[in-house]
Parts: sequence; C-alpha cells; structure tokens
Amino acid sequence: MTDVKSLSRAELSALVAELGEPGFRAKQIFTWLQKGVESFDEMTNLSKPLRQKLAERCTLTVPAAERKQVSRLDGTIKYLWRLADGNCIETVIMRYQHGNTVCVSSEVGCLMGCAFCASTVGGLVRRLTPAEILDQVIFSQKDSGLPISNIVLMGIGEPMDNLDAVLRFLELVNDPDGLNIGMRHISLSTCGIVPGIQRLGELDLQLTLSVSLHAPDNETRNRLMPVNRAYPVEELFAACHRYFQETGRRISFEYAMIDGVNDHDWQADLIVKNLKGMPGHVNLIPLNDVRESPLKPSRRVAAFQKRLERQGVTATVRRKLGGDIDASCGQLRRKTLNLEE
Ligand code: SAH
Repeated sequence: MTDVKSLSRAELSALVAELGEPGFRAKQIFTWLQKGVESFDEMTNLSKPLRQKLAERCTLTVPAAERKQVSRLDGTIKYLWRLADGNCIETVIMRYQHGNTVCVSSEVGCLMGCAFCASTVGGLVRRLTPAEILDQVIFSQKDSGLPISNIVLMGIGEPMDNLDAVLRFLELVNDPDGLNIGMRHISLSTCGIVPGIQRLGELDLQLTLSVSLHAPDNETRNRLMPVNRAYPVEELFAACHRYFQETGRRISFEYAMIDGVNDHDWQADLIVKNLKGMPGHVNLIPLNDVRESPLKPSRRVAAFQKRLERQGVTATVRRKLGGDIDASCGQLRRKTLNLEE
C-alpha cells in the first residue's frame, strides 16, 4: 500500500499515470489530500472507479483527535492525535497577533535525552512519516477552524533525527496547490545535530533555523544535553557560522534559563564571543516545569538578557503560552492511549 499523502508531486503524478489516468488528476487528488478528506470517496470530482482504485492501492492517514484542551489563559489549543498504529502525538496551536502558529511534532517520543525536557521521557518510539507531520497542520486547522499561517517544528521529537521526512513535509506544506505556507513562515528547531545543520545549509531554504543552545560551554552542555558529546559546542558554533554564510539567514538560539546552571554572566559573555561575525538572536525561555526534572527556573533572566544586549546580541524572552494545559516548551510528552500522564 502506498502512503499517498507522503508522496511528492512527481511521485503522485507517476502513480496517476500508472493507474492509466490523465495528468490533471494528480493535482485534483493533491488538493483533496491537503484539505483533509477522510476517505477517497470525498474526492467527488474523481470518477467512482478511480476512487476505488486509489482505495485499493493507497492508505489515507486520518489522525483521530483523542483529546483537545484549550488554555483559559491565552486560548492556546493542544491536541492529542491518535495515529493509525495507536501511537499518540501532541500538536499545539498558538494564537499570536501576527497569525495562528502551529507547533508540530516530528517523532513519537525523542532519542535526545535532554535533562529538562518531558518529550524525551520514555525515549524514541518511532519517527513520523511526512503525512503524519503534515496531518497535524491540516487537521488542527480543520478541527479548530483557525487559519494557520505559521509553523514551528518545535513539538515532540528532533526534526534532524528524521530529516528526510521533515524535508518532504516542508516541500508539501509549501506547495501552492496545497496549504501554501511559505518557508519564511516556518521555523525548524534542532538540539544541535551538526550534519543536519550542514545539509539544511546546503539546501539554502528560507526558513528560520532555531538551535537549542542552552549552554555555550561543553561542561554545562554535556550535562544538560547528551547530543553535545557527539557534537561539542565548537563544532556546533562552526556549523552555525557556515549556515549563516551559506544562507544569509539569522539563526535563533533557544536558551532555557536554569537556576545556577547556565545563567552566569560568564556564560552570557561566552555566547557573545561565539556569535561574533554572525547576527544571532537569543531567545531566552524561562524554564518550564517538568515533573521528572529537578532543575529550577533561573532568577536572572532579565540580567542575562541585559548583558547580552549590552554587548550587541539581541535577546528576547519567550512568552509562555498554554501553561495551564502543559503546552509550553518542553512540556509536550508521549502519551499512551489510556491517557496515563
Ligand atoms: N528537538 C528540537 C525541537 C524541540 S523545540 C530541539 O531540541 O530544538 C522545543 C524547545 O523547548 C527546545 O528549545 C527545547 O530545548 C526547549 N525546552 C525543552 N524543555 C524545556 C523546559 N522545561 N523549559 C523551557 N524550554 C524547554
């Protein structure tokens, strides 16, 4: 069976040709898929025999909204979707002035093991298909009735641990016959997988790359993020500089402020030093509560921000959204069907 929503436009055209149908059918099918039809029979401008052939040859992914929570504080919506194999993933819609932003997951669970993050508790179960990443945008928009204008790949999972699927997702979501969401409206966040940053740099897409830095020194970063043992900070910063040279795009560095761990003045100074020659932007995140983690939020966020700013590095503090429904950074987690927390 072919996972029809994961196909590229070229692959879909090849499938249509193989079924002995004229070329324009591919565009019709593509458009239906992006609208979130739940069966091939909903594709009403196709002949019945063609719908039948598609149903015999292809699977159509339709995630089920297992749970929907709406924040009383700010209207943030969190969905728990059940996938065809029973696994569950979370997706968040954030309501900003500049438009509705959807935060999508790229994997069921996460392999990366960051000390402060709930998404990694229980490890990685499996990577998502392009269709399963795309469905989060399509069905969140369909269910909520909110038009989505921006996407952040900042949900559960490490996008660069599933980069082929993520790149296909980007191609599909960008397509003018589909959701038509431009690269400049998309952010991809990575914990710092250097070969992934290199590959993305070579592709020179116009999306925003976010790097979860969280510490500018190996000793602290090793402690917080096991990925740093594979790609230490020198290599990470070098990859970021190369990325900027290749794309001309400013990188955004995420930095969750942790009490007494990564909030010292010398660490701010070390960030400044490493960003020399590159217009970086540091996004400070007040640490969100994660049950399994003993780490505490820093009380030095404003001072740290000032110290960066004074030395010419722009730094903002990320606004917390969806705190009452555990939808904030690092709080998304793998859930099982009986919804045990
Ligand atoms: N795996 C990717 C995508 C996740 S994006 C990455 O690591 O970048 C989610 C962001 O929230 C990351 O920057 C992550 O480091 C951050 N985060 C994780 N746990 C957090 C917590 N408890 N408080 C604040 N930010 C957290």
